[in-house]
Amino acid sequence: MPVRWRAPGRVNLIGEHTDYNDGFVLPFAIEQGTTATVDTRTDGRVAVASTQRPEPVEVAVDTFRPGTGSWADYALGVLWALRRRGVDLPGLTISIDSDVPVGSGLSSSAALVCSVATAVDALLGLELSADDLLAVTRSAENDFVGAPTGGMDQLASLRSEAGHALFCDMRTLATEQVPFDLGDLTLLVIDTRAEHRHADGEYRRRREGCERAARQLGVPALRDIDAAGLQSALARLDDDELRRFTRHIVTENERVLQTVAALRAGELAELGPLLTASHVSMRDDFRITGPELDCAVDALLGVGALGARMTGGGFGGCVIGLVETRTADTALAAVQTAFADRAFGSPQAFAAVPSGGAHRLAS
Ligand code: ADP
Ligand code: MG
Repeated sequence: MPVRWRAPGRVNLIGEHTDYNDGFVLPFAIEQGTTATVDTRTDGRVAVASTQRPEPVEVAVDTFRPGTGSWADYALGVLWALRRRGVDLPGLTISIDSDVPVGSGLSSSAALVCSVATAVDALLGLELSADDLLAVTRSAENDFVGAPTGGMDQLASLRSEAGHALFCDMRTLATEQVPFDLGDLTLLVIDTRAEHRHADGEYRRRREGCERAARQLGVPALRDIDAAGLQSALARLDDDELRRFTRHIVTENERVLQTVAALRAGELAELGPLLTASHVSMRDDFRITGPELDCAVDALLGVGALGARMTGGGFGGCVIGLVETRTADTALAAVQTAFADRAFGSPQAFAAVPSGGAHRLAS
């Protein structure tokens, strides 16, 4: 009998580039997700097909190697990571279908690896622990595909609960469910359709810069600098870029903690200024925004959004805007007009619904 699991994409509410600094992030799963239908086969081969890709891929179960560059690497990477943990794999048929926009910073990649991992776990009765599932899905993306993601995406896709955001401490990988009830507010997600280059040199430059700054400051990671220690830390750094990177990470960690506190207090409106401050920090200090992202944020704020920021790795992808529900259409129209005025591509939008993590579907 085939087994089907669905794993969601995610929006990161706040906490950008803090993950690889051992810091805090606050993602939540969205309704959009990826479904993996898996079944065993007797010929020792693995066949992977996706409704979103024209070409299925078929390989022998014991032959595939990392880094071929095919989309199927995300699914094969899960099997490879399982095999490295001693799982004896039979031949498998894996069928993928998804409504997560691909490559928009909403983690279609994590939705894919998490749907495959949870489905194969159930099909083969592996009973992997939550930590093992996280390790396997991370390894699939990091070690097999070669995408330098920090683990937040897989955590959010595996562990989110409906109506909650997932507060993650990326040093300990401890997670806490934080009630996220939007009430009469709407969190608009605007996919700017601008190219995001998550795994390229800009990402590496920041990752290495943050590591260099931590070394200069004599701490294991920038997580270990708190808001009170920021000014003295900045004075000890020898480079303006490292100072900017450090200021972003330290203030962003602080904003995550403040956002968690506001959500726990049910003070949704307090999120607005935190989101906007996060965007300004990413624009001016971390320098990972771009014309489309800044334009969308400015347009949202210009029509009275409570707050707005880019979300995801940067340089493209999505913007989130916290708006009163009755003004959501006006806010979206303002972004569309601003994009048309600047001859940017046509943005796509939806209202985010904090949703549950990976779960089994009826076969
Ligand atoms: P994001 O995770 O933000 O969507 P990534 O660049 O990390 O962007 O991952 C996108 C890649 O994941 C795609 O280029 C493709 O290789 C793979 N992928 C994601 N979803 C699917 C799908 N439904 N079918 C096939 N490949 C997919
Ligand atoms: Mg991804």
